[in-house]
Amino acid sequence: MTDLTFLAVHAHPDDEASSTGGLYRLLADQGVRTVLVTCTNGECGDALDGAKPDADHHDGDEVAAIRKVELEHAVAILGIDRLVRLGYRDSGMKGWPQNEDPDSFWATPVEVAGERLAQILMEERPQVIVTYNEQGFYGHPDHIQANRITLAALAMIDYEPTLYYNAIPDSIMALYRARWEQEERERLEADAAKGVVREPDPELEDADGEPIEMGTPDELIGAIVDVSAVNGAKFDALEAHQSQIADSFWMKMGREQFMELMRLEWFVRVTNPTQLDGCVEDVFAGYR
Ligand SMILES: [Zn+2]
Repeated sequence: MTDLTFLAVHAHPDDEASSTGGLYRLLADQGVRTVLVTCTNGECGDALDGAKPDADHHDGDEVAAIRKVELEHAVAILGIDRLVRLGYRDSGMKGWPQNEDPDSFWATPVEVAGERLAQILMEERPQVIVTYNEQGFYGHPDHIQANRITLAALAMIDYEPTLYYNAIPDSIMALYRARWEQEERERLEADAAKGVVREPDPELEDADGEPIEMGTPDELIGAIVDVSAVNGAKFDALEAHQSQIADSFWMKMGREQFMELMRLEWFVRVTNPTQLDGCVEDVFAGYR
């Protein structure tokens, strides 16, 4: 037995699978205790018929109920020992009216949610924590808030864990971007063939209207984890979130290609109490 504990702070049901699914399954297989904090219920996700949250018949509570079951399924697949749902309402993308909902995660004061997270950290005392960077990886308010409450909680507890942000190195992001752009071109052409003229999706912007760079310079990556032994489970956990990602990039890839291509997860080290140097292959390096 080991007394190692890992905890990730994620914004929505499905984020645990997409950014840390391999790491969770790998650590569970190593006997590490694993904890997941999911901040929101995901009310702004797609409804079962694909309806978006601005559609009249989109029922956020119904979407959340479906996503709760999907999350529990993914948690079982990833071998996560404890799931804590903070239960905030999904804030939606930047500028959506849901940002203003007083029950939304975005409208919740950072210190209030941070205090709740700090209590969980004090109970579990994880040595290693993962969340998103200050831009929430791609600018989603709930992801930004997950970063903020994690930093707030770390300032409230009586020890210093190793904090990592999930990341995609620039070299890999360039490959993903080429694939997305190809898919987007195909969609625009297919729409044009049906006589539908659609503007390309807008670029992602941060709170100041600056374009968001989702990639991280390769030399800043602090951990590269080989998840190839467990990426079948990662695919299955993603697939458990059926209502949200049935036509995602990953599902279109299919299980076989996913297992072939999605072999690594990358992280940036933010705090370094065990004084590691350079890039490691194990997020618990320094603790084992
Ligand atoms: Zn999310």
